Amino acid sequence: MKEPKELLKEMTLEEKAALCDGRDFWHLKGFEKYGIPEVMVCDGPHGLRKKDYEKTGLSIDTSVPAISFPTAATTACSWDPDLLYEMGVALGKKCLKENVGVLLGPGINMKRSPLCGRNFEYFSEDPILAGEMATGFISGVQSMGVGTSLKHFCVNSQETRRMVVDEVVDERALREIYLRAFEIAVTKAKPWTVMNSYNKINGTHGSENYHTQTEILRDTWGYDGMVVSDWGAVNNRVDGMKAGNDLEMPSSTGSGTKKILDAVRSGNLDEEIVDKRALNVLNLIKKCADNAKPGFEYNDADDQPLARKIAASSMVLLKNDGILPLDKSKKIAVIGALAKTPRYQGAGSSHIVPTQLDNAFDEMTKLGFELQYAEGYELSNKKESKNAKHLEEAKTLAAKVDTVVLFIGLTDEYEAEGYDRAHMDLPESHNKLVNAVAKINPNIVIVLAGGSPVGMPWDDKAKAILHSYLGGQAGGGAVADILSGNVNPSGKLAETYPMCYGCTPAKNYFPGNPATVEHRESIYIGYRYYEKIGRKVRYPFGHGLSYTSFEYSDLKLDKNEMDENDTLKVSFKVKNTGSVAGKEIAQLYVADKESTIFRPVKELKGFKKVSLEPGEEKEVEISLCRRAFAFWNVEVNDWTVESGEFDIVIGASSADIRLTGTVKVNAAPVAIPDYHETAPIYYEGTVQEVPDEQFVAVLGRDIPATEKLQGTPIDITDNFESCRYTKNGAKMYKLLDKVIPDGFAKGIALQTPFRDFISMSGGVFNDTMADGLVLLLSDKKGGVRKIMKEIPKAVKGLPALLKSI
Ligand code: BGC
Repeated sequence: MKEPKELLKEMTLEEKAALCDGRDFWHLKGFEKYGIPEVMVCDGPHGLRKKDYEKTGLSIDTSVPAISFPTAATTACSWDPDLLYEMGVALGKKCLKENVGVLLGPGINMKRSPLCGRNFEYFSEDPILAGEMATGFISGVQSMGVGTSLKHFCVNSQETRRMVVDEVVDERALREIYLRAFEIAVTKAKPWTVMNSYNKINGTHGSENYHTQTEILRDTWGYDGMVVSDWGAVNNRVDGMKAGNDLEMPSSTGSGTKKILDAVRSGNLDEEIVDKRALNVLNLIKKCADNAKPGFEYNDADDQPLARKIAASSMVLLKNDGILPLDKSKKIAVIGALAKTPRYQGAGSSHIVPTQLDNAFDEMTKLGFELQYAEGYELSNKKESKNAKHLEEAKTLAAKVDTVVLFIGLTDEYEAEGYDRAHMDLPESHNKLVNAVAKINPNIVIVLAGGSPVGMPWDDKAKAILHSYLGGQAGGGAVADILSGNVNPSGKLAETYPMCYGCTPAKNYFPGNPATVEHRESIYIGYRYYEKIGRKVRYPFGHGLSYTSFEYSDLKLDKNEMDENDTLKVSFKVKNTGSVAGKEIAQLYVADKESTIFRPVKELKGFKKVSLEPGEEKEVEISLCRRAFAFWNVEVNDWTVESGEFDIVIGASSADIRLTGTVKVNAAPVAIPDYHETAPIYYEGTVQEVPDEQFVAVLGRDIPATEKLQGTPIDITDNFESCRYTKNGAKMYKLLDKVIPDGFAKGIALQTPFRDFISMSGGVFNDTMADGLVLLLSDKKGGVRKIMKEIPKAVKGLPALLKSI
């Protein structure tokens, strides 16, 4: 393919505008006459979800089989970016084989609430950990000449109303929490593409947000790749072009292109902007074209051992009184359907069709365990009537054995893209099972599955808990490896396990109002909150046990006093003091001892996973530069370090502190906002109930209206929920709410803006129908007629649409 800059000169305005719109659901447009190939982009990212055009049905269920690695919630617990690199390389190979130019991931949104339905796809509540893990993954995929799409940019931490909700977040929390992981991944790994988010960020949709897409991403971080819309995230295409959204996906079937051309012709959009956007698209296509390797050979099965290694390195041993590893000479019962039918991934656009699926029961058997089995519960909630029988069988079996390994967890319907969980509880039948079995046999090991924190009312009844998270297709083998002791567990939590949902910082604000979600807790998410108010948690951030023990010693700082621009070298020793080889994740936190601005008690600034033979000792070195001490200062719109003493805290978890040193940092004096008078609650950290005026002080503006004002005209950016105040709107809402089952479908139906019915339907639902709907919901005449006239056309287009998704 020719140089993009040359091509740009040859292409007409119409062609350049068309290039900024996809060809269909999964391809960028090619232009044969210029030698520009079509590029395919596909979901993953813990596998590959490539549409199989030979099969009928949606690609979520019928995509080309691909190796399914553990999801991000799991791999984050490995705290091992090198492992993520290896996983990225494997997925890059798979993409090459399938002729896929860009793998749509990783997702690195912050885990603000345990209830976010997509938490299983995200790494952490901590931006440094998430950013570093994403960096490993992106670098691995891209080392094979395949692009990635860092998503969802940004503040997309909930599924409820994700396409319309306005995330009201103060600039400091935005920079320090919600953007920081993106900043790390963008500057270190240079993802070929960044995917914006559906939601609004402080009043403006991700796709048309100039502040995030241009001022921050490109101008501040120096990003020179392509920005693609999340699928259907384009709201106003022309505003999006101006704000930095290069490519619209999926194809708008021409309507986006027309809007761009009309805007250029009417003088509302500069052609230079179209050139810039088209150049970014061309650059991406060229990279994909230059790196494509038709005929590339890859066999997914060759990476099954890697998938097993990644899963085993990520699972977290939450507690263990010594019952693990299991003693093979004991009589062991495995109870719980998840032992044979594992939950290994979440639902939604990341759903992979695996090439094989191992289960823990079979894998344990292969390792020489003689196991007895009872199902324990029905996996499907729909068959609850059978649970009483399962429970009795489980009790009978538990009475006959020495040890019971209980497999419980969140089942499929709990965690999915498109909706959030309503509570943190496990299925009732799973909790009941643990309680009933515990009364009969005290030797209980729990293997927990799921992609986010759950309530653990049975915590004190278990002698050991292994959190297997969502282990991918080889997860069953990884569980067997850890339970048997073939692998020494080395994962640590990438998120806090709170005592209950009511204990979480955003519980009063999540998932918000019909129009907004207020981030009143500001920077206090995860451990930043629990530590600030000294709230007890079930398992702290960074916690995870091993079959061996580690000792920390010899903390050295290469200086006691430094200038803010100096680098501080921190070193310390870690020794394996047990009798088996193991890996320890050493964590470095920085604590500002005294500050004008409110700050968390401490924040993660570095970590290292060290592999140690019994008795072996290694020195760990971590360097800290200015940013490790800085906060985002809204007075000067920049990062600021305040002079003073900082503790350098080394922990085996955020709560298990092993070594502490102190450094004095000297910084240039600048204006620092002091909220002691206006927002004292943030110095206390009791942010579950922030009064309006204190949030306003930190937000720096008024709190926006929480819902659409009655009487405001309805247009295609509305959805059925926001139209409830008209006569017809109320009727439609009531009807849809009644007939559509709760969960994904209901969320989509009631909360998707009408503009997306057009852009996501490949033209089946067209502009005329949208006009009709708007008329109808505005209680005006003629709407139904308009819609009905178009129905025959829509019905005709339906089969093609279903074939393309
Ligand atoms: C999701 C993205 C995904 C895209 C394409 C969107 O709904 O938010 O993560 O990559 O669809 O399937």
